[in-house]
Amino acid sequence: MKFEDTFKHKGLRQKLVDGIMLKGVRNEDVLKALLKVPRHYFMDSGFVSFAYKDQAFPIGEDQTISQPYTVAFQTELLDVRKHDKVLEIGTGSGYQAAVLLELGVRVFTIERQRKLFLKTQALLPLIHYKPRFFYGDGYKGLPAFAPFDRILITAAAPEIPVELLQQLKVGGKMVIPKGGAMNQDMILLEKTGEDEYKESKHGLFVFVPMLNGTSNGNNS
Ligand code: SAH
Repeated sequence: MKFEDTFKHKGLRQKLVDGIMLKGVRNEDVLKALLKVPRHYFMDSGFVSFAYKDQAFPIGEDQTISQPYTVAFQTELLDVRKHDKVLEIGTGSGYQAAVLLELGVRVFTIERQRKLFLKTQALLPLIHYKPRFFYGDGYKGLPAFAPFDRILITAAAPEIPVELLQQLKVGGKMVIPKGGAMNQDMILLEKTGEDEYKESKHGLFVFVPMLNGTSNGNNS
């Protein structure tokens, strides 16, 4: 029952995407990807009826599924090409990973909360999304799978993590909300040489913090 994508859902999704377009996201491939992903599959049971509101909602473990506008905005800024190797930090509900997969890229996604990691790793294949899942600390990235064409961080980082910079290809791009607890600047970082980067700011957003280490969900 839960995995039913009805005309009603599709209609609500179209409205949501129309709203996101009005807020300024214009990339057609990104908008189409959002149209395809049934966000209600990714919500916690108590919030399913809000799936097509343009808001973040709780997904347990003190975490949230990002606001669809924010997902669209970050994805547009990331500017992926088909078959790119993309590293996502903060799997959470898996919604952002699904949007990336709809764009035809390969997704490697890391989550530090064990319960969320297990839940999302079980859910996504059931709804035909197959990123590669990793339980671990996103600050460390995935050296064994580097380098990446694109790196997307979906939690607020106080600084740009050096290890992630090292795992980005020359010519690659990283999108990261950088700042403290109140709000963060959306930063686009382009790696122009082995030790050369170009940084630009793209407005203020509010994310849950990127935390160090891993958590088994019992003590945080
Ligand atoms: N991309 C998610 C957004 C989830 S919110 C979605 O579409 O639903 C941010 C997520 O980042 C949370 O699940 C949080 O547990 C995770 N996170 C925070 N710090 C992390 C770290 N160091 N490594 C990996 N994941 C982290």
